[in-house]
Amino acid sequence: MQGIDHSLSNLSLDQLQTAPVTKKGRRPNRAYHTFDTSHHGSPNSNAGRADVQSVDPYMKSSVSQLSNSNLATPTPAASGQFSVRDSPTLVTSHYVPKQRLDSQESFITRTFVTSQDSVPPCATTPFYCVDQNSSDPRKIGLTMYNIPKNEQIRSAVKLPVGAVIQPFAKSSPNDDVPQVSTAISGGPLRCRRCKAYVNPSFSFTFDSRAVCNFCKVSTQLDENYCAPLNPNGVRSDLYERPELMKGTVDFLVPEVYNSTPGKDNVPLHYVFLIDISTISNENRSSLAMVEGVRTCIEHISAKQPKCKIAIMAFDKQLRFFNLRKELNQAQEYIITDLQDVFLPLYNGLFVRPEDSMHVIQDTLSKITAYIEDSKFSHRFEACYGSALQAAKLAIDTVTEGQGGKILASLSTKPAHGIGNLRLRNEDALKKTLKCENNTYIKLGEDLLKSNVSLDLFCTGSAFMDLVSVAQPVKATSGFLKYYPNFQLERDEFSFVNDILHSVANTVGYNAQLKVRCSSGLSIFNYYSESVDNTDREPKIPVLHGDTTLNVLFKFDGQLASSADVHFQCAVLYTDLNGVRKVRILNAAAAASEDIHEVFKFVNQDAVVSIMVHDMLTTLADCDFTQKRNTIDQKVVDILTQYRGLVSGSSSSQLVLPESLKTLAAYMLSFEKSELMKNNNKSANGNSRVYDLFQWHTSHLPQMLYKLYPQILPLHELLQETDFTFYDENEILLQATASETMSVRTARRELIDGGCYLIFDGTTAFLWFNENTNSNLLEDLLNADVSTKHHEINLFGNTLPILDTIINVKARNVLQNWRQIVGRSYVPLISLRPHVDGYYAHTMASLLCEDKSIEMIENFDNYLVSLHKRIQEKLKKDDFTKPPHAKDHDNLSQKFIQF
Ligand SMILES: [Zn+2]
Repeated sequence: MQGIDHSLSNLSLDQLQTAPVTKKGRRPNRAYHTFDTSHHGSPNSNAGRADVQSVDPYMKSSVSQLSNSNLATPTPAASGQFSVRDSPTLVTSHYVPKQRLDSQESFITRTFVTSQDSVPPCATTPFYCVDQNSSDPRKIGLTMYNIPKNEQIRSAVKLPVGAVIQPFAKSSPNDDVPQVSTAISGGPLRCRRCKAYVNPSFSFTFDSRAVCNFCKVSTQLDENYCAPLNPNGVRSDLYERPELMKGTVDFLVPEVYNSTPGKDNVPLHYVFLIDISTISNENRSSLAMVEGVRTCIEHISAKQPKCKIAIMAFDKQLRFFNLRKELNQAQEYIITDLQDVFLPLYNGLFVRPEDSMHVIQDTLSKITAYIEDSKFSHRFEACYGSALQAAKLAIDTVTEGQGGKILASLSTKPAHGIGNLRLRNEDALKKTLKCENNTYIKLGEDLLKSNVSLDLFCTGSAFMDLVSVAQPVKATSGFLKYYPNFQLERDEFSFVNDILHSVANTVGYNAQLKVRCSSGLSIFNYYSESVDNTDREPKIPVLHGDTTLNVLFKFDGQLASSADVHFQCAVLYTDLNGVRKVRILNAAAAASEDIHEVFKFVNQDAVVSIMVHDMLTTLADCDFTQKRNTIDQKVVDILTQYRGLVSGSSSSQLVLPESLKTLAAYMLSFEKSELMKNNNKSANGNSRVYDLFQWHTSHLPQMLYKLYPQILPLHELLQETDFTFYDENEILLQATASETMSVRTARRELIDGGCYLIFDGTTAFLWFNENTNSNLLEDLLNADVSTKHHEINLFGNTLPILDTIINVKARNVLQNWRQIVGRSYVPLISLRPHVDGYYAHTMASLLCEDKSIEMIENFDNYLVSLHKRIQEKLKKDDFTKPPHAKDHDNLSQKFIQF
């Protein structure tokens, strides 16, 4: 136990109660109100808001909306459940913002210990975690921690048994994953039958055998792994073996684990592919790309010194650059035969940045000069497909098929060479989100086969046929970024930071992932394009900190109710330096026959993730109305089962299970996403396809913010500790007054003269208007009180660094958001009615509780309609009964339909 005590003592939670510092010259905390606050904070605060005169459509109070409808607003019932009835608006924890702040607050003084705790806090909550026998739930989270014993009970809760796995998610307070050498034993200890890796739940016998926790078969130990046992069966070397103590370890594995046995592993190889065709040069995104490439290469030189890089550029032709360190300046090779691409050079194609920095800088300068000065030789066509093929050929040749990573920019529909889309007649009414272009499907498959992934940065404002050009991104689990109407001044900083994130967050490549689970369960499918969402093991060409995989399980038998149910994810990969490793993640849950207990231990955020990913696999036909019905049906089914089988109350209230209290809010929000907007003109326009990719590649915290943005008021009276960090590591942000800080994403919640920070998972917004207190803006932005609100600029898309209390607090909030989503940079954009051109569109997507333009209900009405449907189902006795009930009819159901 010493090890555990040690890690606990490192947390230094208690010492930090003195942490809040009061600096000299600071004014006391105050609220920055210029509006009448007399009603504010009271349960009837909406009445006060109704008086606000405003021309901003987002600020018109919807009190009339509230009173005109016979809608009742839910308030908490004594049981912690919620009911719909007439009462004043109270922000309660069945609203997403309050739930988040409460969860955040409750983990300020608590540490999550994986051997004792089961359901993790909200995925947006920063928390300290001690890995004791199981992994940090941020790395592997189950949808439920009391798993139904069999499919009959499972089908009576209508919830998926699944896992959300982000193998390289960061733990707090530190992320030291033990590295276990296996050189002496010739590889990690594994079960001889099911091949599970040794983990803290393996048991050892006195005759030197290990018993597997998955299949219960025993395996003879290698003599190097034998150790004396004490009378309780505990090994004497337990504390020297992290793989028997920790849920997460990295095994350093021998050559038999190499992708091509007999060949040495190499460090990661990057190819930077720069689009220098006319449109890129005109919108100047090619310059941003050059700057991005320079930043990335400097990062690689400093932080990933063994990795190698190559630079290529393309328009109608392909340009290769010789970066050999012996050269004094850039040397360019131009290829015009694009149908049968070949490599014009071998030595000097890939180099270590440190060795060749002078040649690299000269190459990038020459490309910049070409973009800026040689306008008459610019060419409109971009041979993107051929460029991808050339990059793949380069990686294949130099790494002998081990793989690598391509980062490409593109600002136009490819119109030359392989994958020329110019002649393709785009049927604007075509309803599909599936790539139908064989060239790009094939390119995706070939890249995957070669373990090469593609990250693509698109800047075109015209229709780019993203479904086709980004297919190789999807096939290789890469990332797509899209900057509509790219403007260098506005977008360069984000662009450069995004491409840097893509490099800096890379952790390895040539990876294969497999999940094992206790007998009784097996894999139904991995939500991964690389295996067509089947149960085959996904191949991940390049691993990234953000890489997330959702897995759905099915029952193929009964679970033993006396024993734990175990899950193990193994990721075999090559790290950046060329070292072959297996990352092991372990998780455990109990098995249960009690439906009440199953509902109680549900991890809602993981359920949301599985439901969203499941919907994504069905969207190809673009029948969004039908998809929305399906989602509604699923939510109704789950809540009906709970109402019918668990809550037992005979009242007519809507009862939400405590563990799923914001499920409906999140799923309704998904129905209103850009992806599912009805749009007769374009079923596969740029923004829809981009949204689809974001759903695919967001990790869990990012997805939840994307579903339901967080709005925090800065004009409220804040406690001294609010928005200050509790701990010395600056991870745990305090927000005591969760009541006043919970702002629902509805236009009526925003107050004229208010000031809000808003976060959607990728971008932060600062909302203010002409009535916002000028003292607040001065303290926050260093804007002189005489400056008009429309003259204020957020330089560098960030806050200035000031010593005022509100500025410090606001910067803490932004830092907290960056940490939660694992980004070193999140742009801050101003959001002012009648000033910022993107205001209306942005607000429409942020305010997900409001009725959407497709007339999808506002959240309160949605709850009412859910309630009605649940009542009807209950009345007709239309819900699934558990097996011990008399009239069950679903016993033959084998596969999971949740
Ligand atoms: Zn086994």
